[in-house]
Amino acid sequence: MRLFSHRDRPFHLSALPLERLPRLDAADAADDGAGAMPRDRAAPSNDAVSHVIPEYFELFTRALDGPVAPAQAPVPDDPLTRADNLKASAYFLDAAIAGVCEIEERDWRCADPPDHRCAFVFLVEFGKEPRPGDPGEGWIRGAQVARTDLRAVELAAVLSGYVRRMGYPARGHVVGATQIDLARLAVRAGVVRADKGELIAPFLGRRFRIGALTTAYRLAPDRPLAPLTLADRYRAEGPASWLGVDGTRPAWERLLSARRPLHMGAYPMEKIKRADEPTTLVLREEIRRIPKRGDFFNRALVGDLGERTKRERHRFAMKHPYALGMQPLIQNMVPLQGTRAPLEPTGIGGDLSDPSRNADAIKALGYYLGADFVGICEAEPWMYYSHDEEGNPLPPYHKYAVVMLLDQGFETMEGASGDDWISASQSMRAYLRGAEIAGVMGAHCRRMGYSARSHSNADSELIHNPAILMAGLGEVSRIGDTILNPFIGPRLKSVLFTTDLPMTVDRPIDFGLQHYCEQCNKCARECPCDAIPFGPKVMFNGYEIWKADVEKCTRYRINNMKGSACGRCMKMCPWNTEDLAVNRLLGWLTVKVPALRGALSALDDKLMRGARNPIKRWWFDIEVVNGVPVTPIAGVNERDLIDPGSLKRTKGQRLAYFPPELQPPPGASMKEVYPLDRAAGLKLAEEPESPEAARARIEASTTDAGQARLDRSGA
Ligand code: SF4
Ligand code: SF4
Repeated sequence: MRLFSHRDRPFHLSALPLERLPRLDAADAADDGAGAMPRDRAAPSNDAVSHVIPEYFELFTRALDGPVAPAQAPVPDDPLTRADNLKASAYFLDAAIAGVCEIEERDWRCADPPDHRCAFVFLVEFGKEPRPGDPGEGWIRGAQVARTDLRAVELAAVLSGYVRRMGYPARGHVVGATQIDLARLAVRAGVVRADKGELIAPFLGRRFRIGALTTAYRLAPDRPLAPLTLADRYRAEGPASWLGVDGTRPAWERLLSARRPLHMGAYPMEKIKRADEPTTLVLREEIRRIPKRGDFFNRALVGDLGERTKRERHRFAMKHPYALGMQPLIQNMVPLQGTRAPLEPTGIGGDLSDPSRNADAIKALGYYLGADFVGICEAEPWMYYSHDEEGNPLPPYHKYAVVMLLDQGFETMEGASGDDWISASQSMRAYLRGAEIAGVMGAHCRRMGYSARSHSNADSELIHNPAILMAGLGEVSRIGDTILNPFIGPRLKSVLFTTDLPMTVDRPIDFGLQHYCEQCNKCARECPCDAIPFGPKVMFNGYEIWKADVEKCTRYRINNMKGSACGRCMKMCPWNTEDLAVNRLLGWLTVKVPALRGALSALDDKLMRGARNPIKRWWFDIEVVNGVPVTPIAGVNERDLIDPGSLKRTKGQRLAYFPPELQPPPGASMKEVYPLDRAAGLKLAEEPESPEAARARIEASTTDAGQARLDRSGA
């Protein structure tokens, strides 16, 4: 949480006040790259998560190098603009500090170095650890190097892939898989200083690991860091830094964070009201499970939505070189997702007899690895798909689901229209990170002898939304197929893993969202294809929900020619806010004072929230067509607010619903086409059951059943 907004702070400057640091002239740089890299303070025990990380590390190293696009992208020649873009690209993936230097012959540590002249160097910060004795400590102690090097190799692979997809040779480097002296580069790029044989990073001290990419892409070099005088120290690390003036990350946050147990996460979810059931009806016995074949992106892939959508389905999320840089990592993790088969406890992992402590330890591990929210629920049978993609029945298997949310990042969202060329990369970043975290956690459970399988966007056997709801991480929103969280709004992607490790489950939450969404229509107004209902909630396949037109939304996301995919509803929602103290206060008022909700929703429009902030626009508009990066052929979606102030519309909207009876039948494979029947979908949407009618029906049937029982008993 910040006191000062970062609204006017360009994204490439980083969250840390690096611009306040004194620098040397490059020629004056101490030529002593020799400095020890930070290491773990303790060796990992046999219980530590670090034992399962090498499999993922090795997988990511395979993407450190690869083919280069056959033509160069239409990017600016200016090396400073390029360097700023690459820095922002690294900060988007949560690098802490990034810099550039020119490569010297003696930096190389291989016999036949590539003709790369520039090095882009970045630091990844260590994760927050549990306090001594806190849940998860035995799993996490001694795992910092493994955990942080995994993140570093992820960044090195994605960033080098991004540059290669723009048509420039590049290779990623990380400790354990490098051809170059990373410490020397890091000193010259101004991301660390060598001091008495140790590498020290500004603001991070000795809590980081290094990654880099070397490239033929010309970048403007940074200057090395100068030693700090007392006056420099005051300027860089004094009150301004503590308070986070200029929107930088306030140093006091670290103090607050240190007092909070890791398993509780960074956001005060414990202050949100809990209930036994969600705030919306979930009629478990009426939910018909759908086959994976019925997922609309699968339907598009097979051709149910026509030939054009089928063609675009293959590329819609991978039309930008940045997203393409993530693609091999996301795909290659699928075979590691785990097993449904039961296992036997191995004795590894410490005492696992207390489900409550296990739950807290799992949460601590999720936060340590980088999840923004972790919740646990039972993996109830109705949450599973009914059949896999081949049409084979999918019997439910694991008892628990560990559900995690990944924040898609406020700053990039603020610069974007929500449906421009960065949109899919925002999703892919969260999907990649989520798959990595859930994959490692699932592997850790299996090593302890408990069956576990992760469910990522690339391959999931559960529908995520019901699990998010039951794990108490959000409420149903007007966006329909998006669950909204009280702290980051709808700006999220989910991942989960299922397991048999015994854990205490969480309960659903109630923060007043149903009432809020009834007064606010902003997502419906701003949706470019009119897919979100302006009207009330309905009953759909056992759920009380604002039912969006999934066909319209899927078609728009896939066939969007002026951008890559769409997440505009997430961007426009008033709950998508910067994590500022004042916004937390407004959020608290929204939850606690229902009478204010209408006014606060209108205020959001008055303040023109949701309009793009050009300072945050760090990416290049590029479209990859047949492997070649070009200027986007159809242009760019340049949208701000549509008709601010007009929050209501009740007439003229036609939406279609596609319940299980309009989906491909159970057992259908990915080979047969089942054309979408929109006319039937429109008809079904004409007279849906209302939640009130469903409640009355349930109540009557309960009463009837009770009366019948009484009659039978002769009472
Ligand atoms: Fe509309 Fe885009 Fe949201 Fe789909 S993702 S509902 S098209 S705004
Ligand atoms: Fe609810 Fe408004 Fe957000 Fe839509 S934009 S999800 S109506 S709060």
